[in-house]
Amino acid sequence: MGSKSNLKELKARIEDILPSSLSDIFVEFEGPELILYTRDVDYFAENTTVIKNIAKAIRKRVVIRPDPDILVDATEAERVIKEMIPEEAGVQAIIFDDDLGEVSIEALSPGVAIGKLGQNLNKIKLKLGWIPKVIRAPPINSKTVNDVRKYLYENRLERKEFLKTVGNHIHRSADMSDIWVRTVFLGGAREVGRSATLLMTKNSKVLVDCGLNVSAGKISPHLELPDVGTFDSIDAVVLTHAHLDHSGLIPFLVKYGFDGPIYTTQPTRDMAALLQLDYLKVAVGDGGRAPYDSEDIRKQVLHTIPVKYGDTTGIAPDIRLTLHNAGHIIGSAMAHFHIADGFYNIAFTGDMKFENTWLFNRAEKKFPRLEALIMESTYGGPNDFQPTHTEAKEDLKQIIERTFNRGGKIIIPVFAVGRSQEVMLVIEELMREGSIEEAPVYLDGMILEATAIHTAYPEYLNSDLRAKIFHQNQNPFLSSIFHNVDSPQVRKQILEENIDKCIVLATSGMMNGGPVLEYLKQWAHDETNSLVFVGYQAVDTIGNKLQKGTKELILNDKGTQKTVEINLEVNTCDGFSGHSDRHQLLRYLRKVTPKPKRVIFVHGEESKSIDISQTVSRKLGIDGYAPYNMEALRYK
Ligand code: ZN
Repeated sequence: MGSKSNLKELKARIEDILPSSLSDIFVEFEGPELILYTRDVDYFAENTTVIKNIAKAIRKRVVIRPDPDILVDATEAERVIKEMIPEEAGVQAIIFDDDLGEVSIEALSPGVAIGKLGQNLNKIKLKLGWIPKVIRAPPINSKTVNDVRKYLYENRLERKEFLKTVGNHIHRSADMSDIWVRTVFLGGAREVGRSATLLMTKNSKVLVDCGLNVSAGKISPHLELPDVGTFDSIDAVVLTHAHLDHSGLIPFLVKYGFDGPIYTTQPTRDMAALLQLDYLKVAVGDGGRAPYDSEDIRKQVLHTIPVKYGDTTGIAPDIRLTLHNAGHIIGSAMAHFHIADGFYNIAFTGDMKFENTWLFNRAEKKFPRLEALIMESTYGGPNDFQPTHTEAKEDLKQIIERTFNRGGKIIIPVFAVGRSQEVMLVIEELMREGSIEEAPVYLDGMILEATAIHTAYPEYLNSDLRAKIFHQNQNPFLSSIFHNVDSPQVRKQILEENIDKCIVLATSGMMNGGPVLEYLKQWAHDETNSLVFVGYQAVDTIGNKLQKGTKELILNDKGTQKTVEINLEVNTCDGFSGHSDRHQLLRYLRKVTPKPKRVIFVHGEESKSIDISQTVSRKLGIDGYAPYNMEALRYK
């Protein structure tokens, strides 16, 4: 049975449930959802149990949308909305989402925009057909978020066609006899970098992450394996989070034939595009060849289907996906796969943090069912214990104090996403409390833009921070201590002006490129200065060499090789990590429910992945294993 006859039958079954006065509906698959278009949205708004009954009867997610025929043209609708909503609401933007028949109204005072008992919204709905949503305007404007929205809007017709194709593909018929489940590790096994795992069933093929190696060496995962096949044979990509070692090669798949959907959270979609565009810029700037173009990144954005934490989505005839908070960076997710109606359940942690941090709640530990868990082991080694968050704050305070006392400057290499926001929050707190002297904090290399993306998706932050960023005088990210380095000229000034006492947060996090090296070249010889690592430094990176105490580095300086003497104080503040330490990984396995039968460790140096898998087998009664790259595992 094909998806067309499927649709017809579904429509008939829905019509049986609805009162005959509502027969004027039409249904369509769009991505994973069944869309029910109606001229009477109000009926469904008032009779919420009806949608539940329909979803139950047809076992699919149903979304109600206004019939496009009743929607007033967007330009006219915008004019009317501006007229209807009082000026005091401070409307910042009006965004129409054709996909959903929704209009989002961004306002400084959402309450005023909504009106008493929601009267403004009711009026809009009645008069214009669009379903209005009022959201609080983000306190920091993000160019990435705006660009993505604009791009999606401009290409909405193409996107609609794409979603229809995907919908029909998901709801195709499948052979459910003699089914099986296996994974093939394409990259990121017994190593950190180029994470990519193929999840295969008899009917479908899903790729979980497709990252690149940020340090030198083999950049790409083993996409040449026969299991992968041509890229158009992959049903879907699921992206756990935006870091390049997980997302970096998805546009490469898109460039060479992958035309399916990418499932991830909204912030990950935007953040990944930001990091990939920057990667291209750096790769090309270094005289290297980039594996794809910005056009491929745009196509990836257009083909992304955003998924919220906790929502279950059918992504193939025999696979249902649910994303859960992973606590690692904004939008980071653990991916749970429910295969063939409970035949097997397997989850990927992605990178995860099992501790509440300044930014996020700790990783989710409850699944409806779970037989196998594929888990990261970055800090899986026997001695990989990190200080707590409070200890990390104290550590950083002492380093800053000590360096400032001798009139030195501080370089903190960071990834644009995650650690930099956390370190910003801690430094702001220390200066506001008066625990350290106030001094300028320079942000170099997309950090401000990444911070803006955080404030655009406050529902992904912990409640404490969410409350703070919406109070103008309390938003720590808007503190006057922070200065954005938005051009090479500004950087030059900071480097040459000989400011004493300042802190620089600069990318890249492992010092394999990016503006952080400019600061290192100028300031490394001076022993009054300090360098502070707050994140993981992979083997073979410049960061790793410095951490191991190298006294001299040869760096590229505008085309010539420059020898840089290392005299500055080198420190590591481990407590800022977005990864679980050994303790947290093991505690997670003790707490996760239900307890899985098998745990497969990836995303760790060889010895660490092996050590923790042995410990888990011995002490927790769970079958632990550290696979090799290219190895395949069968689960059932
Ligand atoms: Zn990561």
